[in-house]
Amino acid sequence: MGTKAIVIGAGIGGLCTAIGLREAGWEVRVLERAERLGSVGAGIGLWPNALHALDELGAGERITPLLPPPGSGTLRDRRGRVLVHWDNRELLGALGKPLAGVHRADLLGAVLSALPEGTVHTGIEVTGVTGDGTVRWTGGEAEADLVIGADGVHSAVRKALWPAHPGPVHGGSTAFRAVLDAVPGGGVSTVVGPGTEFGTLPLAGDRLYWYASLRAAADITYEDPKAFLLKRFDGWPPDVLDLIGRTPPERILHNDLVHLRTPLASYATGKVALIGDAAHAMLPFLAQGGCQAIEDATVLASLLSRRPVPEALARYDAERRPRTQELVRLSTRAGQAVLLANPLAVAARNQLIRLMPSRGHTRRLSVPARWRPPAIVTPSPDRPRRR
Ligand SMILES: Cc1cc2nc3c(=O)[nH]c(=O)nc-3n(C[C@H](O)[C@H](O)[C@H](O)COP(=O)(O)OP(=O)(O)OC[C@H]3O[C@@H](n4cnc5c(N)ncnc54)[C@H](O)[C@@H]3O)c2cc1C
Repeated sequence: MGTKAIVIGAGIGGLCTAIGLREAGWEVRVLERAERLGSVGAGIGLWPNALHALDELGAGERITPLLPPPGSGTLRDRRGRVLVHWDNRELLGALGKPLAGVHRADLLGAVLSALPEGTVHTGIEVTGVTGDGTVRWTGGEAEADLVIGADGVHSAVRKALWPAHPGPVHGGSTAFRAVLDAVPGGGVSTVVGPGTEFGTLPLAGDRLYWYASLRAAADITYEDPKAFLLKRFDGWPPDVLDLIGRTPPERILHNDLVHLRTPLASYATGKVALIGDAAHAMLPFLAQGGCQAIEDATVLASLLSRRPVPEALARYDAERRPRTQELVRLSTRAGQAVLLANPLAVAARNQLIRLMPSRGHTRRLSVPARWRPPAIVTPSPDRPRRR
């Protein structure tokens, strides 16, 4: 059995896969097209399923110091009336971990630090992959026993090996995000109004991550996103306007939200497997896209630590496709519910939520977070688990 793997893409999924494969005894090279790693991005919410998976990968102790103490919060309507409370302590009690916000740059830095120097090769844009494990880029080519396409929603690996797949499509909404410094005491908060939501997640070090999602056609550019948001959120609770108002304009990121609405028929072919957004990009309304990439990495490493490549990839496909494709569908549905446009439908939804006990709300939203990672078998007792 061969043991040389190439991972394409050094995002959350690719770096976690590299850690997991090394735990399983593989020699790993990660090829990343960016010249520098992880300097952009805002916050990301990690659910207990992902935090448990990071523990299994041996990266948990690097991530835990980056997480804020588990706070609680509210879901409010645009007039500021509380619809339901979010109880992170309940989640912690039930699932052993909270929902935690982390800065993407911190998360990427922490997982990168779990890999030996020289594992990640930047400035390499992969242009071709074949099922027998050949990887090509401008001016270079390499062979591997295993190739992992972790190259995100616009995956070149998916295009090369699943050419009939239509690729990502616009999900009908757009998102703005930013991280603010020096906002102590911030909570997990969401405010919903017609076709629009505004949310916050506290990050360690008194930073606060905010995001705004709204219904929008594809490819609209906003000359002055901050001015646009201040106008769009006029009349919303004062804390929402205050946070947008305090944000330096250059910190506001804007992305149209795209997803793989058409499910892939398979996540593996020959010696190649897809993980993360390359396989199942989903809209962010359940905050599970990155968490699923981390799950993928753990499952793949666990299977490859016990089985030869063809069997491991077939099992990976059979295990991961149903769960992740269901989450793509559920995320779309969650987005439709969050961004309801019709004021009567909004009022009815809000009334329904208000009638729900907080406990039921937390439990319902955390169903996907009950997942637990399988064990990764290390090849020899001389190679202690890095916990
Ligand atoms: C607004 C928004 C909010 C979100 N919030 C959350 C959240 O709270 N929680 C959560 O879990 N998820 C969230 N997500 C989803 C999450 O960001 C993604 O699911 C996650 O980043 C996917 O990781 P990945 O490693 O698969 O892909 P990516 O993070 O996209 O990484 C892919 C990497 O591959 C590289 N690459 C691409 N093409 C090539 C090539 N040809 N050759 C070499 N390298 C290449 C890229 O440069 C990149 O570094 C959110 C997404 C959005 C848009």
